[in-house]
Amino acid sequence: MPTINVAIDGPAGAGKSSISKAVAEKKGYIYIDTGAMYRAAALYAIEKSIPITADALKNHHDKIDINIENIDGEQHIFLCGRDVSARIREADISIGASDIAVIPDVRIKLVEMQRELAKGKNVIMDGRDIGTYVLPNANVKIFLTASVEERAKRRVAQMKEKGLEADIESVKQDIIYRDKNDSSRSFAPLKQADDAVLLDTTELDFEQVVGEVLDLIKKAEK
Ligand code: C5P
Repeated sequence: MPTINVAIDGPAGAGKSSISKAVAEKKGYIYIDTGAMYRAAALYAIEKSIPITADALKNHHDKIDINIENIDGEQHIFLCGRDVSARIREADISIGASDIAVIPDVRIKLVEMQRELAKGKNVIMDGRDIGTYVLPNANVKIFLTASVEERAKRRVAQMKEKGLEADIESVKQDIIYRDKNDSSRSFAPLKQADDAVLLDTTELDFEQVVGEVLDLIKKAEK
């Protein structure tokens, strides 16, 4: 069977990570959450009180040491040797992640890591630019989306499950800000690849979406 790379892109809160995780588990593929890398890079700047601008960060790229490890089937992300997997999910990180993701030098470094992680392996990688830029030859490309209201609702439910504070209106504003920022940057913006399948999940439940993704992978395996 050929090596399969699955690229899942889409706006914030579309369910990319939970869908990708479930599919990866069912298929025995490696799941790579690229958003976690941008979040870890933002955490570096936030903890050191460095403004998130290309200029302020220009001498820090070598020091932003990010590593990904798979521990018991879960992706863990390390910043300068420290496991920051839980910390990067807190509400103060997402805007910073979207701001740092605009800086080309940050993207170039992280994209290189992402391509290396996918090389020769069956992976499901989720992000914003996977099908268009990181893995342009991915065997399966999916653009996952849903209405902004639905995405905000799902994100709040997810955060509450993790015991995190969440207010629907501020989650919605965060999503709108990030979508605009992510789609309007000039380098590798959030965009559906020409050869990606559009999956609008507003009216679909979780199992239906997982089923659709599995069907697309099955076709690619033939
Ligand atoms: O996916 P998640 O919401 O965790 O990503 C956090 C931020 O990282 C996004 O808002 C986006 O700005 C950035 N990102 C990106 N490219 C990716 C993955 C995430 O620009 N491939």
